[in-house]
Amino acid sequence: MRKMIFASAALVLLLSASVWAGSGPVTPANAPEVSAAANPASPAEDGTMPALAAIAGHGMMTTESYDDLRELSDYIGARLSGSPEAAKAVEWGMAKMKAMGLENVHAEKWQLSRGWTRGYATAELTAPLHRRLIVDAMGWVGSTQSGGAEGELVAVNMNDLDGELKKADSWAGKVLIILRKGPTPQGPAAMAGFFKFGDVLKKAYAVHAIAVIGGQGGQPAIGMHLTHTGALGFDMYYDIPVVSMVNEDQKQLERYMDDGKTIRIKIDVQNKATSGPVESANVVGEIRGTEHPEQVIVVGGHLDSWDLASGTTDNGCGVSTTLGAAKAIKLSGFKPKRTIRFVLFTGEEQGLLGSIAYTKMHKDELPNHVAALILDNGQGAVVKLNMGGRDDLIPAMKKFTESLKAFGDLGVDDGVVFGTDTGPFTLAGVPGINMDQDSPEYKYTHHSAVDTFDKVDPAILIRDSTIMAMTAFWMADRPERLASPWPAEKTAKMLTDKHNDVFLKALGLWPFGDLGKPAETKPEGAKN
Ligand SMILES: [Zn+2]
Repeated sequence: MRKMIFASAALVLLLSASVWAGSGPVTPANAPEVSAAANPASPAEDGTMPALAAIAGHGMMTTESYDDLRELSDYIGARLSGSPEAAKAVEWGMAKMKAMGLENVHAEKWQLSRGWTRGYATAELTAPLHRRLIVDAMGWVGSTQSGGAEGELVAVNMNDLDGELKKADSWAGKVLIILRKGPTPQGPAAMAGFFKFGDVLKKAYAVHAIAVIGGQGGQPAIGMHLTHTGALGFDMYYDIPVVSMVNEDQKQLERYMDDGKTIRIKIDVQNKATSGPVESANVVGEIRGTEHPEQVIVVGGHLDSWDLASGTTDNGCGVSTTLGAAKAIKLSGFKPKRTIRFVLFTGEEQGLLGSIAYTKMHKDELPNHVAALILDNGQGAVVKLNMGGRDDLIPAMKKFTESLKAFGDLGVDDGVVFGTDTGPFTLAGVPGINMDQDSPEYKYTHHSAVDTFDKVDPAILIRDSTIMAMTAFWMADRPERLASPWPAEKTAKMLTDKHNDVFLKALGLWPFGDLGKPAETKPEGAKN
């Protein structure tokens, strides 16, 4: 997860992992302070064991998650937010939930500022020699003129975008390639570079550059002969065509540049974007609680995907583990005390838009939310639960995971993950619990043409789904409520302490105003 911590979010491509990864070990200084935390009960002691044993059995004995993933991958395929395929997936998700007997199954609609459809992207080197180059368009970017255009290649140094912007007039009629030259800036300077990148793309369009190579923000594409698509901002569209180029081709261009050669490229990128908003929808279904139906545990993954393959590992796995978890609980015959709400989010890939929409739509109900449990880190085994900064929950959660020894070592830490749908819940004070997975091959399947069903091991998928079912049920059924949302002040302080505040503010995702600043710098009259 550290490597791929922002596996699916928009900014994936440009930020260093350390910017997003807010986790840290629990030390005495930040030790939990919950009253019941002194000696939390294990499932054997809190009455949940019979149900968990039944759910474990049904979870491991059903192939629902694997079968669903095959259907989603091979018969619906890629699911770009706002596309007809995504709408079909929404219908499919609702049908699955209804068939297994979930309650209140419905779609919760929200709007995406534009729809987008990939056409094609071709490129060829025309000097110093002639050969085909392999590129794919990033998402939500524009097109070249019809039939493409040819121009000289010009390097733009990602590490000095201010300096580069001053030379922008020379970009007219050129193909730009984003590279990192010199030491890569760290901390706030890296953040500044990231936000400048949008300015570079706007400027490139304004001065009539032909196209931009460098969807990876100056980094070469990972893997052999792979491109990785993705969004370049939150719910953002750029008119200039931007492409990801395979590593081998980019390296050759870089060698020519080192030799001082003039490089010419012909590039033809054709995409379509809608002029106005399109509709998307999260899929919701519940197992209602028997004692506290108003208290909600959200369990989910994201239904939308990229479109170079079938979105199996990102995040068909999250969708199918969620559906499989619901099925295992239903098959067990046990009902939880609190409501488990299964949610298949959309718009995750354009910037967590579906989960942001959820937290807005359910604003009045959020005080009754206990936690949100999300799986979105590829095809690997769940190895850890990142508790979204809620160090107060670690002792209780550890008591639970210690009872799952048969499923391997399951760590628990207070890591904060903003690279998936946990983020908006964390911002709302609700524990956004990330099911961290060991997915070494995810860096290849991520947003690429090899994100396909064959990459998934059913034994791992079914195990992950069963762990999700047990974790959700335990939170929903234990006698004591596991968590209540933190007040804004406390969340702001936690995020500031973990250095998540800088990028959240820069992204316009900081809902806390001046909260979270150290006391001595807090302005007069600031809310406590
Ligand atoms: Zn994802």
